[in-house]
Amino acid sequence: MKIRIGDIRFLFPEGKDKALTFSYDDARDYDRRLVSIFDKYQVKATFHLNSGTLNMDGYVTAAEVKELYVNHEVACHAVSHPFFNQLSKTQMVAEIYEDRRALEQCCGKLVRGMSYPFGEYNEQMIRTASDLGIVYNRTVGSTMDFSLPADFMKWNPTCHHMQVTDALMENFLNAPAYRNLSLFYIWGHSYEFEDAHNWEHISGICEKLGGREDVWYATNIEIYEYVEAMRAMVMSADGDLLYNPTAVTLYLRVGDRVVTLSPGRCQSLNE
Ligand SMILES: [Zn+2]
Repeated sequence: MKIRIGDIRFLFPEGKDKALTFSYDDARDYDRRLVSIFDKYQVKATFHLNSGTLNMDGYVTAAEVKELYVNHEVACHAVSHPFFNQLSKTQMVAEIYEDRRALEQCCGKLVRGMSYPFGEYNEQMIRTASDLGIVYNRTVGSTMDFSLPADFMKWNPTCHHMQVTDALMENFLNAPAYRNLSLFYIWGHSYEFEDAHNWEHISGICEKLGGREDVWYATNIEIYEYVEAMRAMVMSADGDLLYNPTAVTLYLRVGDRVVTLSPGRCQSLNE
């Protein structure tokens, strides 16, 4: 049977149609407890760190960054948590470049992600961050849905963790067929659980959403890399030939089959 181009749909890795990611800012020492919860339920998170506050009282130390976040992603949150709309261009460069350099030194890995301190950004800041190697930047604007970002430099999360309800989780887990891919992106700060005495809230979310066959548990940068690879896939006009020019294995649903497309491979769907 001839495949119609509209019958070809991307899937997440391993052929899954849902993805969950968390994003926690500021590197307060309560991150230690939060990491232990994420690791218990084997979910993945990104931690956005201010390199300038590491080692201060109540914050994670530079020496522990590599080991503490080993199962997760370390990303930028600027050196000193400034209001970006109040900075000169040179200060913007210094806040991002120095944060990236210091965090890469701490964890021995590439650091390419960021979240906006106070959620504040402008076009100059986006250009500066891009020029310094930042590929995505998270805002604090909730979408309350499970869509993929149109622009990774203005990546709106699904919601803050206090906006996560049983109804929202049910909606994610029982996605209507038309939705195709669903991304649940939850953000917050670990100290909020301590301040509100509600650590059980995050444990409950992880228990409900963790350990599921149909959900891909990924850091922010893993989602970015996969979605960018999807968007880079080359397709013939009739959809018969697919070419994957990236270093990422792509998964697609073609009718009722799951097709994998290896890095560098060009393949016909009618083979
Ligand atoms: Zn912050």
